[in-house]
Order: sequence, then structure tokens, then C-alpha cells
Amino acid sequence: MKQITNILLALILIPSFTVAQLENNEILENLKSISSKNDFIQQSLSSTSIDSTIYSLITAQVNIGTLNEKIEIPFNHQKLEYLGFMHPNETNLFKANPISAQNNNTPELDKKLYIFKYEDFYVSLESKNNANILNLYYTLRAINIIKIRYPELYKNLFINSMEFKTKKPKYGNWVNSNKAFWIAFNTNPKYIASNNTIFLKDGFFSNSQVEKYRNIALVNIDSENILGKSETIGSRPLYNKKKNSDNHLSYLRDGLIESIAHEMIHNYIDLAYTYNKSINEIKQNRGKLNFVLAEEIAVLNTSLPYFIKKGGLNKQVISYYYKNIFDYNIGILKKANLLNSYGAIFTKEFADNNWKTIFKLNILD
Ligand SMILES: [Zn+2]
Repeated sequence: MKQITNILLALILIPSFTVAQLENNEILENLKSISSKNDFIQQSLSSTSIDSTIYSLITAQVNIGTLNEKIEIPFNHQKLEYLGFMHPNETNLFKANPISAQNNNTPELDKKLYIFKYEDFYVSLESKNNANILNLYYTLRAINIIKIRYPELYKNLFINSMEFKTKKPKYGNWVNSNKAFWIAFNTNPKYIASNNTIFLKDGFFSNSQVEKYRNIALVNIDSENILGKSETIGSRPLYNKKKNSDNHLSYLRDGLIESIAHEMIHNYIDLAYTYNKSINEIKQNRGKLNFVLAEEIAVLNTSLPYFIKKGGLNKQVISYYYKNIFDYNIGILKKANLLNSYGAIFTKEFADNNWKTIFKLNILD
């Protein structure tokens, strides 16, 4: 009888721990199984030495001009944490401004999600299906490629954004910084990706009335549109591969890196508008007729020239974006007679109508 009680106790006590553990291991094993042929045995190594091996692997491939889509790297297994299937509020990140239907600040995250953490990045998935496990793996890969191949971009949009640029804003009475980054796979975006900043007041600077905000910069990636099924939207028009799964994979290996950079530039406008004059003007004009088209081409025409200069991004994708978004939006703005007035928000004085030098932000140089 006693033995039976013990077994019962064991059954009651162990499962909650074991199931979480098993789920974690299962996800990690799935991730490892799709990890690159350059993966190495990480178990006995320190996290720092794993990172430096990843650094060397990327640098060696970049040095011979390898395109991003061909780069083979693993992620640092020790840095990946599975937080569980939970509502984002349970991470305690959003305490100052919890996500809720009433609040309506972040409807796309207002549900239970599979949440992972890697350095200062949170990644969320709506399901654990195979496509999403691939999405997670390639997000970790994208983070490492951005960090090592595109250090100026990483420094300006990620590292520097975590600090307060000033304690004395020129506009308003508050200053923003990011406390973390969140990459979410969901169906929020219209096309491939969208951005959102969750503003989280964190009190005041000492001896001042200026408010500090420690925000979450969110990048949404459309988990449906990137699957390569649609002829007109998502990854298929970008890569034109026969098989859906090949379009998905090409996007994850290449386009995802650009999407994260692009959306982080939109988020930069939410970050810097209280101290930077031209960014403030952009923020103030949001909502005006077709201004969204002007911001879009300026953001696109900021990230793409940087990628062209540094190399690595698929050229077909670059020309697709210029033709289908830049030129297209210019056409609409031209018809609406808005090119000159909106152009002046991005470049104060211009003599010619070279829109590629006018609609641009100088934040990655
Ligand atoms: Zn955009």
C-alpha cells in the first residue's frame, strides 16, 4: 500500500516538471536537427566560446563573399530559453502597460504564444508546427548574421537603442529606449512584415520631470504569407521558386534579415522622435494623406542601400522592392502632388528630383 502511495505521489509531483522539460528538449532537438552542417558539439563549451566560434564561422564565409542565403551557422544552444506557452504579459516585460483588449496597444500579441528568449530578443510562435520551428531557427540565425555581418546596423538599431540618447528631449517631456526586441510570427502584417512599439513608462530620470520609457520594439513577420503559396503576396513574388517550401526557405535565409532591419527602422522613428528634429517631423506627419507611402520608401531606401554597400542580400529581392514599392509609391505620390512637400521632410533642400537621394534617412552610416 505504501509503495502505491509513493508511486501515486511521484506521478502527481513529477509530471508538471517533466512535461515542460520534455517539451523544451523536444523543441531544442527539432531545432538542432535543422541546424546547419557547421554545427559543433556545444555541450562542454562556455557560451562565450560558442559565440566566438559562430563569429569565426560567419566571418570566414563573409570574407569570401558568401550570400546570406548560403551562409551556414548554428545558433548558441546555451542562449536559447524556452519560456513556455504563455500570454506575453506573463513574461513580466509589459507590467507598465499590459497587453489587453481594452488597452488595444498590441492586439497581435494578446493571446497565449510559444515564447523563446535569445539574448535581448524574444521570439513568439502561434503554434509549434514544422514551419514555425523553421521560422524560429532562422530568426536566431538572422540575429547572428545581423550582429556580425552588419555591425553598423546592429549597433545603431539595437545596441544604441537600449540606451537613453539624452535626458533633455527637444519635443515632449519623455525619452525612449528599448529594453528588449520581440520578433513575432503571426498574421498581423499586410504583406510580409510590420512593426509596433510597446511604450512602457519606467518613471522619471533622477532629479528631473522628464519621463523615461523602456519600450519593446516589435517586429511581426507574416507566418502565412512567407510560406510561398500566393502568386501575388509574400515570399513567392520575391524568389519565384516552384515549390512553396523553397520560397519559404529562401525568405528565411535571406529576406528575413532585411525585414528585421526594415521594421527596426520604422521602430527607430518611434524611438528617436523626442530628440531628433527630422525624425520628429516624420512622426508628426504620420497619418497624413499617403504619408505612409513616403515613410515606406524612405525606410526601404535606407536599409537597401546599406545592404547593397555591405553585400550579402539577394539582388533580385533588392530590385523587386525598388520596382514594386519604391517606384510604385513614387508614382502615387506624384499623382497626388505630394512628392515635393513630403520629400522636404526627409531632405531639407533639394535642387533636382532624384527621389532616391531625397527619400532617405541617415541613420545607418
Ligand atoms: Zn515598411
